[in-house]
Amino acid sequence: MIPLERPEISASLKKRLDAKSTLLSNSAADSTITRKAWKTAKTIRRDLKGQLSSMAAGYERCMYCGENQGTDIDHFKPIAKDPLSAFLWENHLLACSHCNSNEKRDQYPCGTDGSCLLVNPTKEDPYDHISLTLPTGEYTGLTPKGGETIRVFGLWRPTLERGRAKAYVRCKSMLRDWSAQIKNGHTDDAREVLESLLVQPFADVLYVMIRRVDSPGAPIIFENEVLSALKEMQEGAPFGSKWAN
Ligand SMILES: [Zn+2]
Repeated sequence: MIPLERPEISASLKKRLDAKSTLLSNSAADSTITRKAWKTAKTIRRDLKGQLSSMAAGYERCMYCGENQGTDIDHFKPIAKDPLSAFLWENHLLACSHCNSNEKRDQYPCGTDGSCLLVNPTKEDPYDHISLTLPTGEYTGLTPKGGETIRVFGLWRPTLERGRAKAYVRCKSMLRDWSAQIKNGHTDDAREVLESLLVQPFADVLYVMIRRVDSPGAPIIFENEVLSALKEMQEGAPFGSKWAN
């Protein structure tokens, strides 16, 4: 999971979403009626998916696990909990079918004050609430919200942990390669390596590596070549649009 920027949607799409919301509100639609309305709104779903795909990391990666292709539009606040949020652009995220149907489903835990206990990567930096141990790929909750985020999205899955650990090895190797290509003046090759690095699955691993550059332990965690490459990335490739394909 990495923080993502949510762009404004087109006026025409917003108008169509608002019309659906008004219709549901006026008819006091329950979750069953709303689900039906959502399923039949094929053009809206297609356009929303296009918008979400363009803001996801890499090649349309799931905004939760970061590994699989995002195939589903997830209602962050589930229709079962709040039918009237079904057509709100801010309530849509791109998820893979596993994260959507097998992990998150209709879960939406809230604290005693009513606030949601799930990190929304389009609204906040997940790493205020969770921490990633790079060599093992394990996430740890730093706050109750972080703990619930790991649990509900299944970020603890062993396959994801193994995938992140291997992604860490791959990132270090590609950063070494990138450094060497730049050093040897092979700018085209260097660009190719960088472009490939930025669209790898598990963007969270590279994101966390770059965040760690300023930590006091960075020179111990990373070898010199990797650290200098990360510093260049931090300065020259800020997060946001660079993560998109
Ligand atoms: Zn996923």
